[in-house]
Amino acid sequence: MNQQLIEQIVGEILGQLGKAPVQLPERAVPIAVSARHVHLQPEHVEVLFGTGYELTQRSELSQPGQFAANETVMIAGPKSSIERVRILGPVRKATQVEVSFTDAMKLGVKPPLRESGNIEGSAPITLIGPKGSVHINQGLIIAQAHIHMAPTDATRFGVEDGEYVTVEADGMRSISFRNVRIRVNERYRLEMHIDTDEANAGFISQGSIGRLVKSDDAKETVPVQTMMKTVTTTTPVNAPVTFEFTKKLLSAEDVSEISEKEIVINKGTIVTALARDTARELGKTISSRK
Ligand SMILES: [Zn+2]
Repeated sequence: MNQQLIEQIVGEILGQLGKAPVQLPERAVPIAVSARHVHLQPEHVEVLFGTGYELTQRSELSQPGQFAANETVMIAGPKSSIERVRILGPVRKATQVEVSFTDAMKLGVKPPLRESGNIEGSAPITLIGPKGSVHINQGLIIAQAHIHMAPTDATRFGVEDGEYVTVEADGMRSISFRNVRIRVNERYRLEMHIDTDEANAGFISQGSIGRLVKSDDAKETVPVQTMMKTVTTTTPVNAPVTFEFTKKLLSAEDVSEISEKEIVINKGTIVTALARDTARELGKTISSRK
């Protein structure tokens, strides 16, 4: 081998070694979707499954020490019930049930949006197991989206425990999650937790990647209190309203590509039937130039 070739190979190897092993984009956060689940306090395990009963592990969860149990319970509200709700272990100080907004409507209950563990004054629910049932006066919540991370991640992202950030998830239906709470602990693995409603809203599947945006960098922030209350649509200021179309044929494709609401065509322009349908669907009007 000549000297030049050796240098070239060494250079390439060094180049490879210099690269990060995981090719995640900068500020990337893996997203995990939490389905409805139950955390139980020890006494409730015994009421639901029998005296002396202990939860058995079905699979490990991504956060160290946490597991999905083999055991499930039925949860019941005034309107209906949901069967086979997974119990997550290990046992906790107080029983907590986490459902989605959709579940809450089905059950006929009104749980508050809360951070896990903060159940003071939350909603009541009934749990039914094979050996008995438990009614809790509080403990039913809709979990606030959050990101688990280790202190090294927090340093890298420039965030602190308890801070709220925005996470953008680009996909078929791109969405941003605002007011995502940062939770820093030595034992945590970097992961964002959202519920099934949030995941469905953005076509997000298990293991999707989001991008952490510091709230100061985000275009605007919404206080937590106003979340889920109002949905407003905004029209860009100064956006042109009409589009002057000059070609001979207006197709459906043209209609969907034109962002203006009103399409003005020449007298002789041919408009396809599909173009008219598309315009109707998109709430656009096609008018002839006078
Ligand atoms: Zn979590």
